Amino acid sequence: MTPDDIDFDLRHIWHPYTSMSTPLPAYPVVSANGVELTLSNGKKLIDGMSSWWAAIHGYNHSTLNDAIKKQLENMAHVMFGGITHPPAVALCRKLLAITPKPLECIFLADSGSVAVEVALKMALQYWQAKGEKRQRIVALKRGYHGDTFGAMSVCDPDNSMHSLYKGYLPNHLFVEAPQTGFYDIWDPQDIVPLRQTLEQYHQEIAAVMLEPIVQGAGGMRIYHPEYLKQTRALCDEFNVLLIADEIATGFGRTGKLFACEHADIAPDIMCVGKALTGGYMTLSATLTTRHIAKTISQGDAGCFMHGPTYMGNPLACAVADASLALLETGEWQQQVSTIEAQLKKELLPLKDAEKVADVRVLGAIGVVEMKEPVEMAILQKRFVDEGVWIRPFGKLIYIMPPYIISEKALTTLTQAMAKVISHN
Ligand SMILES: *Cc1c(COP(=O)(O)O)cnc(C)c1O
Repeated sequence: MTPDDIDFDLRHIWHPYTSMSTPLPAYPVVSANGVELTLSNGKKLIDGMSSWWAAIHGYNHSTLNDAIKKQLENMAHVMFGGITHPPAVALCRKLLAITPKPLECIFLADSGSVAVEVALKMALQYWQAKGEKRQRIVALKRGYHGDTFGAMSVCDPDNSMHSLYKGYLPNHLFVEAPQTGFYDIWDPQDIVPLRQTLEQYHQEIAAVMLEPIVQGAGGMRIYHPEYLKQTRALCDEFNVLLIADEIATGFGRTGKLFACEHADIAPDIMCVGKALTGGYMTLSATLTTRHIAKTISQGDAGCFMHGPTYMGNPLACAVADASLALLETGEWQQQVSTIEAQLKKELLPLKDAEKVADVRVLGAIGVVEMKEPVEMAILQKRFVDEGVWIRPFGKLIYIMPPYIISEKALTTLTQAMAKVISHN
């Protein structure tokens, strides 16, 4: 890329959460292979982000490339209204085989946020079909569920965009985020706020919505499986639905194929996205039970009211099907547990560093929480100088590398974190 291209980008192209008047620098990446991103000046960076949880098998993967090429020979896209096609059916068969048993019906959508919108609509339409006016969602503080309006309305009300859109967002209920860490001794007090909210408002509540075990973009918090287990029990007790947003946690990242497995529970509605296509294309899915799907279909509308133009895009389905086939080999389990052991060994000692508040590791996720917010642009540059791609936000410096990363490359990532933290 020429300096002129980069200048054009700065002037005209929005990047995630950036200002158009004082944009943060964007690094020009021209190719990616395995766990390496190549900048236009030829410099190679070891990727610690998996392109936001997505590229679990690494970049330029021959199996995934072949799946897209083969599908391209047949068709890139065709509408899903009144039409079905082999990649959608193959993918959905595989998805049902690996997700919790009671989930039987799948809605394919374009992105994680849309999968969340679909989940919220399913919950609302379900209660409407049953003739009950239940439109409130209980969500957790520190949660993150996406950037569209419905999704924003269930994100943490304080550190997200609620104040910006005050009056425009539905008024949902928020409970304290679980405080007991994954490895801590369970504190029964943790579940009390949720119980109290359900006791008081259950007749208005359509669903409880949460990210199982790992609260991602809202703070990279890793909580105790007992919280999830008791949430499931409370949803049953008070007859409200449980929506699990597995968009970040799904497909092995936490050491289980789905984070719900840590608590051995099944949600009523589950969203997946991000790693669904192995980081190749945007695709998401919302899964639900036969009972919910049937109830919705018997309501006034007679159907579920959603249908994106690119629903079930064949290229995306084909590459997702190939990514799930790679997961089916089971190799990810060894890879993720090896990464977890190495992250614990190399990151946990950083807890003692002066500016570090906490270090957390689960599966192929390593998080260092600083005491103070970091200067993103400055740290970003330091990491690039160290030959790694790590993008901090707020107080968090964290990695979630592709599962195929070697021991040596992972050490390069953790050493860069240690170095940048000690010189921060
Ligand atoms: C990223 C994310 C989303 C939103 O997905 P997009 O594809 O960015 O719309 C929703 N929920 C969780 C938990 C996420 O991590």
